[in-house]
Amino acid sequence: MRPARLAVLLSLAGAAALATAQTTPAPAASAPATTTERPATEFPYTPGLDTSSMDRNADPCVDFYQYACGGWMKNNPIPADQARWSVYSKLAQDNQRFLWGILEDLSKRQEGRNASQQKIGDYFGACMDERAIEARGADPLKPYFDQIATLRSNKDLPRVLARLHLALADQGLFFGFGSSQDFADSTRVIAFASAGGLGLPDRDSYLKTDEKSKEIRAKYLAHIANTFTLLGDSPEQAQRQAARVMAMETELAKASLSRVDKRDPYKLFHKVDARSLQALTPGFDWHAYLDEMGQGKQKTFNVTEPAFFKALAKMWKTSDIDATRTYLRWHVARNLSPALASRFDQEHFDFFSKTLRGIQQQQPRWKRCVTLVDRQLGEALGQEFVGRAFSPELKAKSLHMTRQVEEAMQKDIDSLDWMSPGTKKRAQEKLAAIVNKIGYPDKWRDYGTYVVKPGDFAGNVERGNVFESRRQLAKIGKPVDRGEWSMTPPTVNAYFDPQMNDINFPAGVLQPPLFDPKMDDAPNYGNTGGTIGHELTHAFDDEGRQFDAKGNLKDWWTKKDAKEYEERAACIVDQYAQYKVVDDIRINSKLTLGEDIADLGGLILGWMAWQTEMASMPQKAQPAALRDGLTPEQRFFVGYAQWACENDRPENLRVKAMTDPHSPGRYRVNGLMVNMPQFQQAFQCKPGQPMVKEKRCRVW
Ligand SMILES: [Zn+2]
Repeated sequence: MRPARLAVLLSLAGAAALATAQTTPAPAASAPATTTERPATEFPYTPGLDTSSMDRNADPCVDFYQYACGGWMKNNPIPADQARWSVYSKLAQDNQRFLWGILEDLSKRQEGRNASQQKIGDYFGACMDERAIEARGADPLKPYFDQIATLRSNKDLPRVLARLHLALADQGLFFGFGSSQDFADSTRVIAFASAGGLGLPDRDSYLKTDEKSKEIRAKYLAHIANTFTLLGDSPEQAQRQAARVMAMETELAKASLSRVDKRDPYKLFHKVDARSLQALTPGFDWHAYLDEMGQGKQKTFNVTEPAFFKALAKMWKTSDIDATRTYLRWHVARNLSPALASRFDQEHFDFFSKTLRGIQQQQPRWKRCVTLVDRQLGEALGQEFVGRAFSPELKAKSLHMTRQVEEAMQKDIDSLDWMSPGTKKRAQEKLAAIVNKIGYPDKWRDYGTYVVKPGDFAGNVERGNVFESRRQLAKIGKPVDRGEWSMTPPTVNAYFDPQMNDINFPAGVLQPPLFDPKMDDAPNYGNTGGTIGHELTHAFDDEGRQFDAKGNLKDWWTKKDAKEYEERAACIVDQYAQYKVVDDIRINSKLTLGEDIADLGGLILGWMAWQTEMASMPQKAQPAALRDGLTPEQRFFVGYAQWACENDRPENLRVKAMTDPHSPGRYRVNGLMVNMPQFQQAFQCKPGQPMVKEKRCRVW
């Protein structure tokens, strides 16, 4: 159950968005792993600036993305088991292949393992045991379905729902319940009740009327019916039930906020006491629900979307209990299909991966199992990863660069001609309060109460969910753990958390080709410097700027400064609204605004930090000879661009256009260059060329 943070965590790459869209344990697999694949004992080295990834025939002033990434796109077709392929996903797969070897060894060894190693080893071993999983068929569903069968009237719903929420940690069952920091007081953790209940990736999936969306809904309906058939219902019954589920989800979709609205923290902040909570949903006994969750004493709740809960209560009241049972059976089956026999797994894959994302082939088993260990025991696995792959020197170098980027932001704020001294002062206070978290947590998570048994894959998944649900709920009323991370160390991504007011860079993202100690400074400051700047700028994007130095949702802007800010942000909105994602679908630039602002701010800060580094080391400031035929300035920009090289499937792009707050890679590069005079100078671009914008945008 991780409902609360979804609106506020701002990460660099789209991977996180995909992970939250896919609420089930893993993209499915039943095809046997390719026999030639083996774990890696060390990381393959990919240089931080790779000239073979460029397309030197392209004109950098016409299409810089093609110039910097053309070779990469040509040399890296999307593997059959992926929805998209990027520099980030390729590195993530290298990390996985490395972790595979560690896990394989730990799964076979019986002796000499510490408690954490036992857990990740046995978890991985059970996950890999396809024969045992096949033999159990649909058995793991039975206890859940028995629970659901005890649902005789709406009176039983709170109890049953609480048990399912604990055991599945899934927002897809009507709503989500968890914990998060109070928007008004970041030192307090309170209970959060959030909208949920959907099977498709977004509320718009239910509401859009174009042909493609209709086609996907028809296929979704067929998939739900197929799942019921697999569960033993007759085809007629199955179709009727699928239609019921669809009707209920559509009703919930209509009552849900759009993703653009959800970027406004005020729209998600409705603090209520137990009485007001109860008043929202007459007929649903919150006492009974909370008691079953072990949270009977809670007094304060944030209901992220009150209108949703009102609609939910109305729906429960008007639909018969049989429909509710049907809905719950579907969502339990959807959630657990990847942990069941291959017929379920395959059916799940066919819709959620193939139809929705265009993925052609199941991932090999090992990959799915590494992903699951990372998801459920990520810090135990991360400990193994960090010990082998992240040196103290790397940590020190990353921290050095982070401080330089922060100093650059200090100067940048000082230099703004549109911001008043008072607002500048508070911006500086916020900047100074940001905590840098590099590599991995200081204190590792204790998985002590999570029992992992050899040979019991479905049981391990469930116990992992319960462990996580309880861990989240246990935070309520306790002091905030400022050392906690929301990403695991091997993750190839980074994030800013506005309530913690911290920037977080997992060890997985601080490796070649993203951060390459063997490379010259220019591409490193372009690439990793740009990433650090990106996360830092999130503290001051259209969403982040609404939180103060303490992480509280509190307006610290004068009216005039806020207006100046919004004018500058509107320039970005207009610019990105012109870009196409796929076919005739354009970027929803109000959804991507925060990321687009962070991208531009990040590049500017990376540039400034690089200038400082050169100035501090006179020998580096020499007009360096060309390297690979590129000047240092050119290497900075090519280095930046090469984090974003990617290939995408059209199906996946359609989902991303709806759900992903990040723009496609091409515009995360070209959309910035048109606004950077330093770029235009480095490549001697002329006014009127596509990479030169007449009216430049700049926020930070
Ligand atoms: Zn971001």
